[in-house]
Formats: sequence, structure tokens, C-alpha cells
Amino acid sequence: MRSLGVKAGFFGAEPWSETMRKEIEEKLHLLAIDIYGLTEIIGPGVASECEHQNGLHIFEDHFYPEVIDSKTGKALPDGEKGELVITTLTKEGSPLLRYRTRDITYLERSPCPCGRTSVRMHRVLGRTDDMLIIRGVNVFPSQIEEVILKVEGVEPHYQLVVERRDNLDELEVQVEMNEKLFSDEIKVLERTEKAIEAELYATLNIHTRVKLVEPKAIARSEGKAKRIIDKRTL
Ligand SMILES: [Zn+2]
Repeated sequence: MRSLGVKAGFFGAEPWSETMRKEIEEKLHLLAIDIYGLTEIIGPGVASECEHQNGLHIFEDHFYPEVIDSKTGKALPDGEKGELVITTLTKEGSPLLRYRTRDITYLERSPCPCGRTSVRMHRVLGRTDDMLIIRGVNVFPSQIEEVILKVEGVEPHYQLVVERRDNLDELEVQVEMNEKLFSDEIKVLERTEKAIEAELYATLNIHTRVKLVEPKAIARSEGKAKRIIDKRTL
């Protein structure tokens, strides 16, 4: 890869985490830039990071962004997480007014070292339709993925099972082991489960139960991943 001399790559679509970015940059020897877009608006090109990788500059001359509370529809101030809403300003064929993206992010207007003055959106934190509320805490699968990616011996394939026992939500995180860990002693597996639980607690502030599963046990999906099984009856 180094001999190709590729300087930068643009990555988008399914939320990719900071940990995955580091891995891509190390393995491909390039600057991995986050890009954002959606088919309904224009496809890729609504926003992109600059070389400082601190939020995606929105092309405000073409798109008017707002962040709203997805329940009330009210606009939120900069820095507050909510659903990104986009109005196209220059699109002529099929303009969209206050299009709800279902993507969760927040806006940031502090100056960027690159000199661009456009508003920046934080990398997409999740989707309004895949946000889980566990014991009152908002949990995004992307946060869990970020933790899992840091752990030795497991694959980035996981499934979340939510149940409610005695009126309390319980979250089980099933994580796939790689072949090497799978052939290891039970003691090692238990230690790994506990380590992931501790790391998840540090990130999410909720207790989870981590269960390691055999390699290839979790169904692969094409396109949007189906990672949540919610068994709660409310
Ligand atoms: Zn910048």
C-alpha cells in the first residue's frame, strides 16, 4: 500500500469508529477522512472532514443544517445532540425542505485550524431508529462497537439483546471470538468477558452482560446491520 503513494481516503456510510479509523490509517498508510451524505439529498458530499479531522465541514452554501429534538421537532442549540435536518438551497430538480435524516449528531461553530468557517457536524453518532434507551441512558450500537474493536481476540461482529426483568432493562452484548481465542481456556474467555464489561461500563455508565460466542455465530447482513434484538414489552 505504501508504494501506491495514496495520501488520503474518504470513508463513509455505516458509522465507522475512531478505532477503525486508526486501523485503516495504520494498515493503508493514508489519512482517513470521514465524509457524509445521503442519497435523498445528493449522495456523498453534504459534508466532509478537512485534514484536521475534527468534525465534518458542512457545505453550507448548498445545504442548510439544523439539529432537532426528534420527539418534539424543536431546533436544538449548537453542541446538543439530536437529529440532523437538512434543507437544500441550490438543488433544482427535487429540492428538499427540512428533510429529517434520522442521523444523530451535533453542530459546532468554533474556528477550525484549516481556516474554513463553515459549521461542522460531529461524526454521525447513530440513527434515531437504532438508539437504545437502557435504564434511561441513551446507548448507540456505534459506542459498543468502538469498545469491542479495542479488545484483543474478538471480531467486530456483535449483537445486542435487551430484556426487561423486574422492570429493569438488561443488556446482553454477544461478541464473536476469533479462532485463536475460541481455542483458549475457559478462564481466558471469562477474563475477556469481564474486561469488555468493565470497558463498556466505563464508556456507557451502565452494567451489561457480555457473552462471547463462537466464530461466525452472528449472522452477517448486507447493507444496514441488524444488531439489536429488543425483547422488551412495554
Ligand atoms: Zn477544517
